[in-house]
Amino acid sequence: MLAPALTKITGLAPEELSPGVATLYGLSRLVMFTPERTRELKTDPVHDARLAFHSRDEGAPSDPSRVFRYPARGGIGLWAQRLEAIAREEGVTIRTGLAAEKVEPGTAGGARLTLTDGSLLDADRLVWSVPGALLLRAAGALPPGPPPRMTSGLALYHVVVDRAFATDLFYITNYDPAFASYRVTLYPNVQGRPMRDGQYHLTVEVILNAHHSEAPPSAQITDELARMGVLAPGTCVLAEAITHVRQGFPLPTPGLAAQQKAHGERLAELFPDTLVLGRGQAGAFFLRDALGEVVRALA
Ligand SMILES: Cc1cc2nc3c(=O)[nH]c(=O)nc-3n(C[C@H](O)[C@H](O)[C@H](O)COP(=O)(O)OP(=O)(O)OC[C@H]3O[C@@H](n4cnc5c(N)ncnc54)[C@H](O)[C@@H]3O)c2cc1C
Repeated sequence: MLAPALTKITGLAPEELSPGVATLYGLSRLVMFTPERTRELKTDPVHDARLAFHSRDEGAPSDPSRVFRYPARGGIGLWAQRLEAIAREEGVTIRTGLAAEKVEPGTAGGARLTLTDGSLLDADRLVWSVPGALLLRAAGALPPGPPPRMTSGLALYHVVVDRAFATDLFYITNYDPAFASYRVTLYPNVQGRPMRDGQYHLTVEVILNAHHSEAPPSAQITDELARMGVLAPGTCVLAEAITHVRQGFPLPTPGLAAQQKAHGERLAELFPDTLVLGRGQAGAFFLRDALGEVVRALA
């Protein structure tokens, strides 16, 4: 049932993907029966996990820990800036514009790092937060194997229109393979005000993969926005621009899972006291999962 949506996102047939990936892409519940019957069934946790309410106005979590927030102003970079400020206040030295080119296990635990400017850094304890394969490569110990299968990146369509959107949604995920548009973020709806007087902006993400390798023309995207009910009839586009995110994301295949497991085992042998966090943890890809792994490991 979910095959067309999974192929739209990944470019692969469902049998090429790991079991359970639909949940990774937010496809965890189905809309079925009538709204009343759904309400009854959802009182049972088993059905609750599988059925979605018919309206987004229902089912808002009462537990505040299940409410996910996004900064109304300034974007998510605010969190990183605040964390950086706290670290500096605590006396942490942050060195940017450098990479750990070579990493060797230290003689008494820890690690010795050679940075790209040639300087050496002896660490009592190494904390690694990027994929484990990069640590193995820096240690000259990456086992031979094919690189992970990836999507080919994203095409981002930034559109400014002359009137408020015909929906008050913050964002929309379009799983329909008849549309190239995947996610649409409606900034004025999130921020509660237009970009400027009479100017409303949004971004449409189009995933490029083996299934959809070409970025469609922007006229197709504005047509899709109208068909999705985002742009009201008569809306004029004031400005538009396309940017490309060249980096793709790794596809959750059984091959990737096996490779990440093997890398984790090799890392544990080579760097037994290294704390591997965030995206270094196999399977942590999305920001929330990567941050969640950090919080769990440090708690
Ligand atoms: C195309 C794409 C779309 C995505 N969409 C979403 C999304 O919609 N929602 C979501 O939650 N997540 C999304 N993600 C994932 C999200 O980007 C990551 O979860 C997030 O960036 C992880 O943050 P991080 O700081 O752990 O790692 P990163 O942002 O990857 O930062 C790691 C940093 O380490 C640096 N580095 C790497 N190697 C070395 C080295 N040897 N020495 C020194 N520095 C090094 C890198 O240059 C980089 O600056 C997407 C990712 C991609 C690629």
